[in-house]
Amino acid sequence: MVKPVILTLDDEPQVLNAVGRDLRAYFRGDYRIVSASNGKDALDALQQLKQRNAPVALFLVDQRMPQMTGVEFLTEAQKIYPDARKVLLTAYADTEAAIASINTVGLDYYLMKPWDPPEEKLYPILDDLLSDWWATTPLPFEGIRVAGALWSPTSHNVKDFLARNRIPYQWLDIEKDKEAQALVEGMFPAGGVRLPVVFFADGSSLVEPNLADLAAKAGLQTSANAPFYDMIIIGGGPSGLGAAVYGASEGLATVMIEREATGGQAGTSSRIENYLGFPKGLSGSDLATRAVAQARRLGAELLTAREVTGVRVEDPYRYVTLNDGTELGCRALVVATGVRTQKLDAPGVAELTGAGIYYGAALTEAASYRGEHIIVVGGANSAGQGAMFFSRYASKVTMLVRSTSLSKSMSQYLIDQIAGTD
Ligand SMILES: Cc1cc2nc3c(=O)[nH]c(=O)nc-3n(C[C@H](O)[C@H](O)[C@H](O)COP(=O)(O)OP(=O)(O)OC[C@H]3O[C@@H](n4cnc5c(N)ncnc54)[C@H](O)[C@@H]3O)c2cc1C
Repeated sequence: MVKPVILTLDDEPQVLNAVGRDLRAYFRGDYRIVSASNGKDALDALQQLKQRNAPVALFLVDQRMPQMTGVEFLTEAQKIYPDARKVLLTAYADTEAAIASINTVGLDYYLMKPWDPPEEKLYPILDDLLSDWWATTPLPFEGIRVAGALWSPTSHNVKDFLARNRIPYQWLDIEKDKEAQALVEGMFPAGGVRLPVVFFADGSSLVEPNLADLAAKAGLQTSANAPFYDMIIIGGGPSGLGAAVYGASEGLATVMIEREATGGQAGTSSRIENYLGFPKGLSGSDLATRAVAQARRLGAELLTAREVTGVRVEDPYRYVTLNDGTELGCRALVVATGVRTQKLDAPGVAELTGAGIYYGAALTEAASYRGEHIIVVGGANSAGQGAMFFSRYASKVTMLVRSTSLSKSMSQYLIDQIAGTD
């Protein structure tokens, strides 16, 4: 885990150096010491740390500074890091301001300058505050964080892409989480917030990203390593992945190109019960993870977030064009593009897709609709699986089925499961 930060702020260079030196001597093993010489720089540093989701454990701040006093700084800083412990460094003359700030900013301690010897006057006090911080503050999530809103289709697309590609992320709903809202607004000082904002562990971020940029940043392969292959496969569902496994296992130079997520439709299934060799069933995501690992281990390249937009034949070779303009050639081309989801033709659906209306998004969105009433339109297997999955989260799930009986389109095992839920 990354070391939590102790931030120290003082406008006098000698004092700042002395505090930094003493803090480093004692806390260096467990904490990162960050120093700033004015309130604005310190707040900028905090914003950057927040974007990286780096934990900040303690502020050690001088009270008397020209542009922004210590108390004024702490008032702003606690909006960004509400859990960090707050210590004011004061001269005797500032004692009153320090006492007043115990109430106004929830000051944890005020330390009189000088703090020599630190073994007596500094370390025991900070040790106490820091052990309290460790005991009461949840450790931050260290992976990808997506800050957006439930009603934003672009936020849904990003979440859905990450979930379908089995990339763990933390969802920050800016309408419910004030810290997340402040974090996002800090990215747009001139206003005009765009969603979602995706924060990465290295401190970088992407605003409203396109899927290829997101995939590349999240560590997925998006470009081929060679211009020519024995076999190119278009589509990364079960058929494409199967072809990749067999091609690569026979020693063919193989690349599979998938425009959205490996696993295809099957990857969105909450439980596949009829796949040979898995007597208790498995989730679509599990099936996709296993197939992707198998294909990669055997040497296939798997490109994600790349669409094949053109195919041309120049016997005996075939060439495909990708949506970034790249052309790749091969001896054998396998087309495994599956089927497209049938769209619901009803007024308002197009406008609200991704904002309350979703296609096969149970795995991505169920947690956001905990305790709500969900309506599932459709009466075949994917509707049945979606209804069963939502029933774990929703207060009520209603299925709208135009046919007279579920048995006309749904497998018996799913009908039995639905009949068995309350
Ligand atoms: C929710 C759900 C649950 C299901 N549950 C079950 C089940 O329990 N049991 C069962 O037997 N079946 C189930 N199915 C059906 C099963 O998933 C499909 O039959 C299977 O996925 C078909 O595999 P495929 O590889 O042929 O096509 P798909 O899975 O449709 O994959 C095709 C892939 O090609 C990609 N693609 C298309 N065009 C391009 C292009 N131009 N460039 C790049 N990529 C492209 C698509 O993005 C897609 O990922 C379920 C389906 C769904 C939606």
